[in-house]
Amino acid sequence: MKISVVVPTYNEEENIRLLYDELSEVMRATGYEYEVLFVDDGSSDRTLSILITLHNEDSHIGVIRFRRNFGQTAAMSAGFDYASGDVIITMDADLQNDPHDIPRFIEKIDEGYDVVTGWRHNRQDAFINRKLPSMIANKIISWTTGVALHDYGCTLKAFRREVIKNIRLYGEMHRFIPAIASGMGISFTEIKVNHRPRRFGTSKYGISRTIRVILDLITVKFLLSYATRPIQIFGLLGFISGSVGFIIALIMTLQRQFFDIPLSDRPLLLLAILLIFIGIQFVSIGLIAELQARTYHETQEKPVYFVRETYGVGSNRAERQG
Ligand code: UDP
Ligand code: MG
Repeated sequence: MKISVVVPTYNEEENIRLLYDELSEVMRATGYEYEVLFVDDGSSDRTLSILITLHNEDSHIGVIRFRRNFGQTAAMSAGFDYASGDVIITMDADLQNDPHDIPRFIEKIDEGYDVVTGWRHNRQDAFINRKLPSMIANKIISWTTGVALHDYGCTLKAFRREVIKNIRLYGEMHRFIPAIASGMGISFTEIKVNHRPRRFGTSKYGISRTIRVILDLITVKFLLSYATRPIQIFGLLGFISGSVGFIIALIMTLQRQFFDIPLSDRPLLLLAILLIFIGIQFVSIGLIAELQARTYHETQEKPVYFVRETYGVGSNRAERQG
């Protein structure tokens, strides 16, 4: 069994070497064959040159350099595309995740789980703008997706190769991998991990991420529940709206015809027309979405990033490019 560790890295010059030392020690102790893939997400500091030095010193290290900053999710996707391990582990480059937790992730995979996620039960971040929004977001995500995890945001996770090779990520979606994977019928478990305060460099995120996460959640929910049958959600909404509008219009027509109640001065008529129109719109959107769903599933998918160059990572990407 080979382990690939994927590390999205953006302006983490002070952290790289420390992480490398700690991680290498842990990985050697596991006795497994391993590789560590650093994805340099368009860093503007010395991160890249440090990574290349590490690659030159140690053949376990692979580096993927992005042309510009594509974001953490894209960086993780790239790592997945190039990874050659049977088990793929993701972690942050900023030393907030503790490499010493990794052997426990591998144990769980050995036990047969497809996905193992970390739970930062002692999360070391600011309360008001990081922990509180994340607590609320985690509750909403659990409730909406039906995947009960305490902590979606923890990057430290382990995946079996076949899970990761079948998932495409967009936007801020890396945190939804367990939810997306649940749609594939995988088994997952959560373990408590150590979380450490950031010592060097600064966090790349603020409170605005919460909003983006919630928006992505809408997409994920749609993908999970309706992506293959959009007419069932849009059609249902359209059917309800159109029926209500039709009934109101019908009643008003009967009143006009048989009871001489005039149609003028009755705002309800406008509502009826509106509801009928919305109904037709929804059904039409549903039909277009049905066509889209077919295109989506049947055409070749495109990558979400562009790589400038790679160092010692082989050509495993081809596997997913079909
Ligand atoms: N990161 C990245 N690209 C980005 C932003 C972040 O690759 O555009 C990396 C970053 O270097 C770190 C990880 O993603 O390894 C998590 O970022 P950060 O520590 O800033 O997030 P936080 O821990 O504050 O949630
Ligand atoms: Mg961090």
